[in-house]
Amino acid sequence: MKAVQFQEHGDTDVLEYGDFPDPEPDRDEVLIDVKAGALNHLDVWTRIGFGALGRLDLELPHITGSDGAGVVEAVGEDVERFEPGDRVALSAGLSCGHCEFCRDGDPTLCTDYKIIGEHVRGIHSELAAMPADTLVPVPEGVDWETAAAAPLVFQTAWRMLLTRADLQPGESVLVLGASGGVGHAAVQIADYVGADVYATASSDEKLEHARDCGADHVINYEAEDFAAEIADLTDGRGVDVVVDHIGAATWQDSLSSLAKGGTVVTCGATTGANPETAINQIFWNQLEVVGSTMGTPGEVDDVLELVWAGAFEPRIRDVLPMSEIETAHGLLEDREGFGKVVVVPDSEYDG
Ligand code: ZN
Repeated sequence: MKAVQFQEHGDTDVLEYGDFPDPEPDRDEVLIDVKAGALNHLDVWTRIGFGALGRLDLELPHITGSDGAGVVEAVGEDVERFEPGDRVALSAGLSCGHCEFCRDGDPTLCTDYKIIGEHVRGIHSELAAMPADTLVPVPEGVDWETAAAAPLVFQTAWRMLLTRADLQPGESVLVLGASGGVGHAAVQIADYVGADVYATASSDEKLEHARDCGADHVINYEAEDFAAEIADLTDGRGVDVVVDHIGAATWQDSLSSLAKGGTVVTCGATTGANPETAINQIFWNQLEVVGSTMGTPGEVDDVLELVWAGAFEPRIRDVLPMSEIETAHGLLEDREGFGKVVVVPDSEYDG
């Protein structure tokens, strides 16, 4: 089969769409005929060699990709939930199933938590063998691009807003980087909850898309200081929740944008993980700083049910054949466009 892979960490030119031995499903695994995959910013970090907690130690060559969907081709002998012909999508979180956090019912806190595509081989390939527990059914009528693009960012944004920040109807929320995968999912979910949604992006065109996703107020952060703008728009009060996946470049302004008692929730730090922090703002304004990663199986089911029903829609900015994976990574690194980049096995690509 063909797979997107790299033999060493580095720039986009380490990526190759080349031959790789066909995977064989283990007893608890499902062999998937992959129809589409989607990229996340973690694909860029994985290629460079960094995971959430530092330098990665991967089995090389590494197959990329944490999002993908396709048709079940075969199942291992212990798999009962799926059979050949089923339509499935990957939900990339991997937990051990027996540590104290897994036993307590929150596998996202697993002491040995991994993300498929980041810590182990991913799904950007013609065939992939994945644990049955990481797959969700995809109804007929949901296109492959949607099925591939939704799981990682929608579960992440859902858990951030509903579980970790406990967003309530009528509260105000600021979503930074609304044009990215998590950002545009967070805007849609916050709007669905009935919050007053503020969104930032780097161009007026992206902000139009953010409005279309449900943003009530938009701020071009290239043209304006977003913290000052939030102060203006809220008469100095600030917002109840800030969704920050940007990191060092926005962190202090995120804290400054919060109302008293507000919550900043972070799921990533693409611009750096060690910002300056005004601790006095945290204690005096009684702010909550909350982290979030991926989602539990229950959260995944809840949010994907809404995606499959059409309540939420991953926006697709480009669909490329997997052989153009270097271009796909470039699109993420250049922060061009709005929404998700999808890649399709060349044998499935019809332009
Ligand atoms: Zn565990």
